[in-house]
Amino acid sequence: MDEDVIGQIRATVRQLCDGFPGTYWQEKDRHRAYPTEFVNALTKAGLLSSLIPEEYGGAGLPLSVASAILEEIHANGCNGAACHAQMYTMGTLLRHGSEEQRRKYLPGIASGELRLQAFGVTEPTAGTDTTSISTMAVRDEDDYVVNGQKVWTSRAEYSDLMILLARTTAKDKIQKRADGLSVFIVDMREVVGKGMTIRPIRTMINHATTEVFFDNMRIPASSLIGEEGKGFRYILTGMNAERILIASECIGDADWFIRTASNYARERTVFGRPIGQNQGVQFPIARAYAQKKAADLMVKEACRLYDAGVPCGAEANMAKMLASEASWAAGEACLQTHGGFGFAEEYDVERKFREARLYQVAPISTNLILSYIAEHELDLPRSY
Ligand SMILES: Cc1cc2nc3c(=O)[nH]c(=O)nc-3n(C[C@H](O)[C@H](O)[C@H](O)COP(=O)(O)OP(=O)(O)OC[C@H]3O[C@@H](n4cnc5c(N)ncnc54)[C@H](O)[C@@H]3O)c2cc1C
Repeated sequence: MDEDVIGQIRATVRQLCDGFPGTYWQEKDRHRAYPTEFVNALTKAGLLSSLIPEEYGGAGLPLSVASAILEEIHANGCNGAACHAQMYTMGTLLRHGSEEQRRKYLPGIASGELRLQAFGVTEPTAGTDTTSISTMAVRDEDDYVVNGQKVWTSRAEYSDLMILLARTTAKDKIQKRADGLSVFIVDMREVVGKGMTIRPIRTMINHATTEVFFDNMRIPASSLIGEEGKGFRYILTGMNAERILIASECIGDADWFIRTASNYARERTVFGRPIGQNQGVQFPIARAYAQKKAADLMVKEACRLYDAGVPCGAEANMAKMLASEASWAAGEACLQTHGGFGFAEEYDVERKFREARLYQVAPISTNLILSYIAEHELDLPRSY
């Protein structure tokens, strides 16, 4: 992708973010309110449809551009979590859905008229062990009847559609762990209050996350994406994009923390000199900068491989791990540099600090990435 074009897109994002200063996010955070105005502005600017092919009304841009958009949002003090999934959740539908399903949903998702940003995979009992999920979808003539529960289904209250992973064959009747799971596109407008119940979970960050209950929820059989029983594999193919894009947000956060810390360290005078003149203050910021630069190279490498259509599982995982650790190191340095003021809401540091912590846990926790590297890159025995 032409660097000038990416530069222009970055400038557009920066300009848009200028309209959403820290006070906007503080207010939303205080009330755990959804940043509707920000999401609308991104939608109107066409930034959330960048990955949808042009034939379905999107911009048909590569992942490297989506990565730049999310990085820029975070580097400018905003947060893409309220809507980043609108960019990539459609990937499952795009890659594995029928042409009829693509034509039915993608143009609406591209225009923003339809929101597909709920991704129901995690369950309270199975946790990271996705192949142990127990939410069951049973075929009944022209429908599937779904029973079970999801947890941490983010943005479900602000989504029209959900990509749902459910079991279609009981676990004791399958040959391989990855078999027996299927993916559905659920029109939530049809089922909320009629078999689907959404309950918000209040968390340490403003994340609009929920638990979702299915009680004899009927969905048409045409909601099935691809073949029955292949759902786990379909979900996996979307995970590299998700990890790379989340890593990009972490790079943006790290940028924000490093810039904010450096500015403060230059301006704040204690003992008659700027605190940034002390190496004890400089070094953690400098170290975080080096960590961020290294992680950014891995994010760019993962994007390059993804856009070239070659396998990038290891790079996507490493990018997410390194970037989430770099943003956390930068957050820690930024908070410490601000002393007591780091805890004051109006400086935005404490909010960003809380927000940055998530990415060592979701969408996949660091231990599971290390296990992946050990097994797939180092040929060590699988540990679980
Ligand atoms: C704010 C938020 C938003 C989320 N949004 C979504 C969403 O939209 N959709 C969705 O489906 N999910 C979502 N998630 C879920 C998220 O993907 C999971 O929380 C995450 O994958 C970890 O799973 P868990 O919480 O069940 O932890 P567990 O699986 O219970 O793990 C707990 C701890 O044990 C460690 N652990 C577990 N097994 C091993 C092992 N074999 N080796 C070493 N360590 C291990 C883990 O690394 C972790 O630190 C979200 C989570 C949060 C907090």
